[in-house]
Amino acid sequence: MVTDILKIISTRATSQRLRARKDQVENSAGGYTFAIDDEARLRRFLTLGVEGGTYYAQPRELAAENAEIVMQLAETNPRLLVDIIVEVSVAGRAPRANPALFALAIAASFADDAGRTYALEKLPQVARTGTHLFIFIGYVRQFRSWGRGLRRAVADWYLNQSADKLAYQLVKYRQREGWTHRDLLRLAHPTGMDAAHGDLFAWAVSKGTGDTAGLPSIVGAYTQAQALGAAGAEADFVRLISENPGMPWETLPDVALTMTGVWEALIHAGLPQTALLRQLPRLTRLGLTGGDTGKLIARQLADPVRLHGARVHPMSVLVALRTYANGKGVRGDSKWTPERQVLDALDAAFYAAYGGVEPTGKRLLLALDVSGSMTAPISGMPLSAREATAAMALVTAATEPDYEVVAFTATQPLYAKKSASLFGGCAISKLDISPRMRLDDVLRKTDNLPFGGTDCALPMLWAAKAKVPVDTFIVYTDNETWAGDIHPYQALRQYRDQLGIPAKLVVVATTATSFSIADPSDAGMLDVAGFDSAVPNLIGDFIRGQ
Ligand code: CA
Repeated sequence: MVTDILKIISTRATSQRLRARKDQVENSAGGYTFAIDDEARLRRFLTLGVEGGTYYAQPRELAAENAEIVMQLAETNPRLLVDIIVEVSVAGRAPRANPALFALAIAASFADDAGRTYALEKLPQVARTGTHLFIFIGYVRQFRSWGRGLRRAVADWYLNQSADKLAYQLVKYRQREGWTHRDLLRLAHPTGMDAAHGDLFAWAVSKGTGDTAGLPSIVGAYTQAQALGAAGAEADFVRLISENPGMPWETLPDVALTMTGVWEALIHAGLPQTALLRQLPRLTRLGLTGGDTGKLIARQLADPVRLHGARVHPMSVLVALRTYANGKGVRGDSKWTPERQVLDALDAAFYAAYGGVEPTGKRLLLALDVSGSMTAPISGMPLSAREATAAMALVTAATEPDYEVVAFTATQPLYAKKSASLFGGCAISKLDISPRMRLDDVLRKTDNLPFGGTDCALPMLWAAKAKVPVDTFIVYTDNETWAGDIHPYQALRQYRDQLGIPAKLVVVATTATSFSIADPSDAGMLDVAGFDSAVPNLIGDFIRGQ
């Protein structure tokens, strides 16, 4: 039999290992996907970070690639760069502040005069805490020397907040990355301030030994706590906290942080939400998560006002939940027995962190990539992309009336394709998860799923073959896919033709690479980055066609 070699060339069904169109690029796994533009790439970097690298790229390579994109934008469109940094940062869309501070440092170093000035003007919006400021200074010194503009921006950071707010920053975030407020005040040398600021600066430069008379009361509370030191009694610390309800726990000496009464006082005074999330193991060990204080903690944890006020990222809640449910610290040096009401509150807090998500009412098929590459951690957090993905799928599940969740795995396949190039081929299976299950159980379940080959075209192929009506396919993937004899965008077109439904495809990217299986020239396809609180509504708006 003579085979016609020309039959392998097709623009309607092309192997994912071949380039189907000129605008496709090879991904790190050897498959062909589309490349996203620089703006989309920037958003992925800002919201997803690079600390964990990807399965295929080391963190250093990924960092270098992303830094290059940011530098390019600093030169070509600094205003756009800075505006996106501010938008992502102010909206709390990233679980960590570092990428935004890093990108702003690049803008403040590589843009033209007007661009650098614009970047530095926005410093207080992106560096909202003393720690942010220190991290920014560390980054900016990687790219430039001190100059008048930078000194003035730092001086303004200190001058343009009220004395009370600044005092809080000075006692709460005292040093980081080898920098102290004393260092920065001496370098920036702010002038033209009022007496209140002048006295605070003098106190900060005195290394905290100066007179606190006339300063905001929180400074006196801090120096008193430090003076009590290791010899301080619980009653003394508790009294200090009740007299100064806004005093941060960071102002207390180590000994105070081992005392039950001290934490009880801090909680009743209104411990900030991020501190509360991080201190749950300690609060449980101290016996505070049961009883009335436990009820108060549970209420505070799931309080939407507290969550949004503190810009708590849903993934930070997820990390807190997973860590807490484990009952032991990552180094195994501390143990606690997870309290049910805390676990339930964290579960509720995760959904609450996403805020109000409006259902679209459309028919949705969610497909989760759970392949080996999805075990890469996101944003340097102890959380894998597959876990974050499963959790976020539940946000859709909790909102939408009509959805199905499948995963790319070969156990009890709904639909499978044998492939000569793959062990056992690729398949999708129904994933039995629902928001009625608690998140820590879902995470465990997802983490134990057997890896399968990932062919992101399968959801469309299956739905076409089984004649399942779907308005929108939502695929969560790192886009490092190569398996399959038809590209996902081609499979979507076939599905539309065969079922007569103008189906859409949303691709939720889980790593800060430049690849996407979504066709950028098809208005029915959307590429979104990450897991932040804005994503469900972005997807919803797209599905509704807004
Ligand atoms: Ca993969």
